[in-house]
Amino acid sequence: MTLLADAPQIPFIQTPPALPGRLAGLAHLAQNLAWSWNRDARSLFKAIDESLWNRTRHNPIRLLQLVEPGRLDTLATDPVFCARYDRAMQWLASERSDEHTWYARTFPELRGRTVAYFCAEFGIHNSVPIYSGGLGVLAGDHLKTASDLGIPLVAVGILYRNGYFDQRIRVDGWQEDSDARIEFDGVPLVPLPGRNGARHLVTVNTFGRDIHIRVWKMQVGRVPVYLLDSDLEENHPEDRPLLSKLYSGGPAMRLRQEWLLGVGGVRALRALGIDPAAWHANEGHAAFMMVERTRELVANGLSYADAVKQVRNCSVFTTHTPVPAGHDHFSVDEVRQCANGYWQEMGIDAEAFLRIGYHPESGSGVYHMTAASVRLSRRVNAVSRRHGIVTREMSRSLWPNRPAESIPVGHVTNGVHLATWMSNPIMKMLDEHLGPGWGHSSDPALWEQVLTLDDETLWYTHQRLKNTFMRMVREEARRAFAAREMETTQLVGAGTLLDPNTLTIGFARRFATYKRANLIFRDVERLKRLVTNTQRPVQIVFAGKAHPADTPGKQILQNVYQFTRDPQFEGRVAFVEDYGMHLAHLLVQGVDLWMNMPRVPLEASGTSGMKAALNGVPQLSTIDGWWEEGYEGNNGWAIEPEVDDDAGLNTANRLYELLEQEVVPRYYDRDKSELPRRWLTMMKHAIRVGGQQFTARRMVEQYARAYYAPSILGDSLPDDPPLA
Ligand SMILES: *Cc1c(COP(=O)(O)O)cnc(C)c1O
Repeated sequence: MTLLADAPQIPFIQTPPALPGRLAGLAHLAQNLAWSWNRDARSLFKAIDESLWNRTRHNPIRLLQLVEPGRLDTLATDPVFCARYDRAMQWLASERSDEHTWYARTFPELRGRTVAYFCAEFGIHNSVPIYSGGLGVLAGDHLKTASDLGIPLVAVGILYRNGYFDQRIRVDGWQEDSDARIEFDGVPLVPLPGRNGARHLVTVNTFGRDIHIRVWKMQVGRVPVYLLDSDLEENHPEDRPLLSKLYSGGPAMRLRQEWLLGVGGVRALRALGIDPAAWHANEGHAAFMMVERTRELVANGLSYADAVKQVRNCSVFTTHTPVPAGHDHFSVDEVRQCANGYWQEMGIDAEAFLRIGYHPESGSGVYHMTAASVRLSRRVNAVSRRHGIVTREMSRSLWPNRPAESIPVGHVTNGVHLATWMSNPIMKMLDEHLGPGWGHSSDPALWEQVLTLDDETLWYTHQRLKNTFMRMVREEARRAFAAREMETTQLVGAGTLLDPNTLTIGFARRFATYKRANLIFRDVERLKRLVTNTQRPVQIVFAGKAHPADTPGKQILQNVYQFTRDPQFEGRVAFVEDYGMHLAHLLVQGVDLWMNMPRVPLEASGTSGMKAALNGVPQLSTIDGWWEEGYEGNNGWAIEPEVDDDAGLNTANRLYELLEQEVVPRYYDRDKSELPRRWLTMMKHAIRVGGQQFTARRMVEQYARAYYAPSILGDSLPDDPPLA
């Protein structure tokens, strides 16, 4: 595919000031989110105006709109800048072809056979707030990697105009949520015209009304992302905001959103002339995508049974959580009204239609999106080895005649996009130490060489990143204080007293109760002794959002926040507001230890610990999700599953024990040159294990080999549908 060939015609929605001719290509560079993982492109934008770059939170479109024109004229005559610019433009041009990619080499017969990837959220860059957390960031990393590997993937999602939400914490620690509106003039979104000048591209009927959908395109390297939008005058006023907020508005709203994503998404691809050979539903939110394809086949003359078979054969479904509440399900009455006679076009009655979403454990009144996805996908996978075992166990009722271990659900352990999550200085160190091409390698021998990195270089590189993080925390507090968004009494809790020479623990993720953010406060006195030790103090930085409807999650957040205000902790416990990808970068690169305390086995994978590992930050975690595969004894610490308990008491005790007896002594054990040699060894093992095994490259190659290629080429495995 040559998806970038049309880039020069893409206009800025709001034109930037005229660029000097020598640097005209900057506009194209800013319009493809691939800039976000190209080091030349990133450093180019940063060099234009570093302070503006930080103030725009790394948004090149905004940067080009706001920079003083004279500055660009100066840079156009700067040979160093121009050389870098030329390199970035060359790279952008090379992205226009997929001839020399891994996929083209590995599967030459599959060139041009498109894979469609559906997901309810995508975390690609913080300037596009259409994600809430791990699922979206993983989907974003998947797209970036598919682009790197040359997989002809197209993505389908929703353009949430009001985003997920911006977080602000009140003085009493309660989370307030406000809309994170997409700034259309700061995001590379291009509306695709409909037929005869219409604004909408496709129409979907639901609850008896036609909903017109506009489609926007966003380019992520070689991968186009098509985002659906219902906010059109042509739509009934109540329908216009249907797609405007992510994960809000209760089940009726969710059902409509998922119906529009699945049915509308397939129709959008058809309207664009795209004919995918394999279809990947990332989580059950996209199940109706398979239903719509079944309808299409019946409309084209196939029997319902044959249509189901054909849809199954080329569908891949990834399930992401063992927490039952994480699996969307709706009342069959609502699904019936939502679909509103649609089943007639599938050649079946309402009862057969609803049976697609039947889950024996939920009963006949419930339409279960995971059951529907499993029924219409021949290839189903979980996201870590342990999650695979748990999912097979949980799915027994769908395959009543099979023992759990032979239920046809595999696993592909998640990974993270290296060029997105590893910091520049660490990458530079590896360039020098490992030689070219290391970022593409999963050769254990190559990654073994990380262990011979120079201690001093690694330590001071890490210290630099830690300083950057703490400076950002202070500057953000300063800004919020000056803007009267933060009271004086909140400044300490925002992290302004953090000290770069103190062992710093990071904990950042959604405030879902099972993640147990407040576990470390179980024994306040014991923790206080650790934190305020005069010789060897400890700092803890928290960040994360609670789902707006999750009151228990908000209570945990409030509980944690109150400790940041407690003078007895001496300003060594901080909460940094508004966790998103921007803050996630700074945190995983700028703390010393990553903490993760999920209740086993509820964390399907977890990915933030992988991001930390790539930056030489070891993890201390219960053995759940990826840590069951990733923990090797020398890249962090683990709390054994036998220790983990419902009440969290034993887990907390073990956590204190590890901190007191192992973590703190190791960190503060310095030699004559003030270097923590034993800690540095652990940092190197973290990089070695993360880089070799937990990158999105390894993950997406596995999807391509074991899921996409067999879906397209067909294989001789027996088809084994679940209980209908
Ligand atoms: C990586 C990431 C997550 C996922 O973290 P987990 O460890 O899986 O909980 C959530 N939010 C953001 C912004 C991230 O970057």
